[in-house]
Amino acid sequence: MSTATRQSHPFGTHRVLHPPGSTPQSAWKIDNTPVPHDNEILCDVETLNIDSASFKQISDECSGDAAKISDHIRAIVRERGKQHNPVTGSGGMFIGRVAEVGPALRGKIDLEAGDRIASLVSLSLTPLHVEAITRVDVSTGRVWIEGKAILFASGLWAKLPADIDENVALAVLDVAGAPAQVRRLCKTGQTVVVIGADGKSGMLSCAQAKSRVGSTGTVVGIVPNADTAAARMICEAGYVDRLIVADARDALDVYEKISQAVPGLADVTINCVNVPGTELGSIVATKDEGVVYFFSMSTSFTAAALGAEGVGKDVTMIVGNGYAKGHADTALQTLRDHPQIHDHFHATYAAKKP
Ligand code: NAP
Repeated sequence: MSTATRQSHPFGTHRVLHPPGSTPQSAWKIDNTPVPHDNEILCDVETLNIDSASFKQISDECSGDAAKISDHIRAIVRERGKQHNPVTGSGGMFIGRVAEVGPALRGKIDLEAGDRIASLVSLSLTPLHVEAITRVDVSTGRVWIEGKAILFASGLWAKLPADIDENVALAVLDVAGAPAQVRRLCKTGQTVVVIGADGKSGMLSCAQAKSRVGSTGTVVGIVPNADTAAARMICEAGYVDRLIVADARDALDVYEKISQAVPGLADVTINCVNVPGTELGSIVATKDEGVVYFFSMSTSFTAAALGAEGVGKDVTMIVGNGYAKGHADTALQTLRDHPQIHDHFHATYAAKKP
């Protein structure tokens, strides 16, 4: 039930509890009371897709035990009013059904009660009220809950597409910024290196990169292990021209292997890994005056800036904005255009329904 006089800031700053003056993302704690202000959207949440870097950190800390992971997530939300991992700083996104559109937004946005949506803003700023966690899938970072979330007037969301399984759509929309940015950054004939090429954002980035650079360009994937279904698929489908097995944290090994495969190094390097310590590997894989796109949430600004300076590399480094205009459509279309990736996502995520 909304309160007629509770219209508040479109960025959601009215929900900040601590520290005063911060924004919902930078705040330590926000108000997760599941009652919408006039310009908020209340959703019944069904599934959380925890950000990969965050889920890996939580899973490692809980020894991969689903019950402990569940308790850990509940503790974070209880303490912060949002699923904002204090170690990685990252969140994730949710799938749910719109329960109420605040009166100030009704008729002004293409959304009404009952619509099924995926949130496109991070859980690290989304007021979340968890009543129960009913299941944790450790292999995918997917968490089924009973609870409610609030989207602010400035929040982004996408209606779930009718032609794609919603669990698949959730996995794709979580990383929608990557293929959209790759599409902007890569040009015909270029050499592109994708680090973490067999992950969600990595596969979509390889497909986008290959379609942009064309037959005169080269896409090189870096994976820690070539013997995975995803690694085999990106090779067989031709999304990568070369696959290199390397630990991206080992910058020297990456440099040696990339210089052998593509002596001129990369015009563009896309970092899609979910572990810390891969900044320098990305920088040395890239040619002077090239571009490094850090999509990974494990990226350290300090390590990237000082690492590039330390090896005298004049590269343009881009922070992986989770949002790009039209990113949800681009990501879903990438899936539709590449049936092998669609099949892989389907096999991994659609089968994971409770
Ligand atoms: P994902 O599906 O878990 O993929 C991660 C990939 O990194 C996997 O292919 C993994 O290989 C690979 N990897 C792990 N350790 C590696 C190493 N030492 N060397 C080389 N590769 C390694 O993750 P995702 O969902 O695509 O997300 C990727 C990153 O993007 C994460 O950091 C996530 O937090 C971030 N992200 C950013 C945004 C944004 O807005 N910028 C939004 C969503 C997610 P294996 O599976 O074989 O171990």
